Amino acid sequence: MKKTLLAAALALSMAGSAFAADLPNISILATGGTIAGAASSNTQVTGYKAGALAIQTLIDAVPAMKDYANVTGEQIVKISSNNMTDEVLLKLAKRCNELLADPKVDGIVITHGTDTLEETAYFLNLTVKSKKPVVVVGAMRPATAISADGPMNLLNAVKLAADPNAQDRGVLVALNDQINAAHDATKTNTTNVATFQAHDIGLLGYIAGGQNYFFRDTTFKHTHETEFDVSKIDKLPRVDIVYSHASDDSVLVDAAVKAGAKGIISAGSGNGSIHQDTEKGLAEAVKKGVVVVRSSRTGSGIVTPTDPDNQYTKAGFLNGYSLNPQKARILLQLALTKTQDPKEIQRMFTEY
Ligand code: ASP
Repeated sequence: MKKTLLAAALALSMAGSAFAADLPNISILATGGTIAGAASSNTQVTGYKAGALAIQTLIDAVPAMKDYANVTGEQIVKISSNNMTDEVLLKLAKRCNELLADPKVDGIVITHGTDTLEETAYFLNLTVKSKKPVVVVGAMRPATAISADGPMNLLNAVKLAADPNAQDRGVLVALNDQINAAHDATKTNTTNVATFQAHDIGLLGYIAGGQNYFFRDTTFKHTHETEFDVSKIDKLPRVDIVYSHASDDSVLVDAAVKAGAKGIISAGSGNGSIHQDTEKGLAEAVKKGVVVVRSSRTGSGIVTPTDPDNQYTKAGFLNGYSLNPQKARILLQLALTKTQDPKEIQRMFTEY
């Protein structure tokens, strides 16, 4: 009896899958987020449950995907991305590498909450070892809302991952008909569907009229070009971010050091400036072996290198260069899996 049921279930699932040999094979790794969010009414666009729906429900909602790719879904976690962890990041990177090593897999789409999407995209940009497209997608309105942006974003992401022209461009962030580089994209608005921007650096391209249009490439090293290998890593070093403000002091810096931080990102004011009272705490942290990197809370621009006689250089602070604090944190975590050498880590901040 059991055998008959199993055979029937298998026959049904094979009939339902209808894989087309001439279409690319795209794996969707689902992590939750608003794209899988559900609310009690179709006008509710805040206060809903993120990550409520399973990947198969999202796939079933967009049958048009089957015209462009053979799509398979895998649920990695079902979380709101503000709860993202190093453990999940490592799991995602390892699964991407496993799948992309399979010649039958042509690309990957990751469905993700938008809150920390940029961190995951950048982490994968540094740890996925493949030229095949990896596209991270989310949505700003829950799946149950009128004008939900998730279904079109997902269709676009699958088509992008299936596009040979999307290869070797690093991990891509695709929402709202726009293609951004993982290095550049950042969430800029709490609720608007146009939240992902690359500020003054600009988009990689558009998705318009069902086509992908690329205008430029990222100039930073990514994916198969990086030196980071997480295949044997189960834990990442603790790196904290301290956010500068008027009347700042070193209380949070001291707390980070006490909590065992191996690195601290200073989200400095302006061009990586730090309140003098916080600076003292950070200088002490460096003396204790903590790697301190100056980034900026401004949201755009670079933190410029300092001269040898500059107070920050003398204190041993490194320069976060082009990365916002949350991405600088990701790079410093990965850098610390390789080295403690400040010169080497500074090199990484200019290359990645
Ligand atoms: N809090 C949600 C999340 O990041 C927001 C979203 O997905 O847009 O999972």
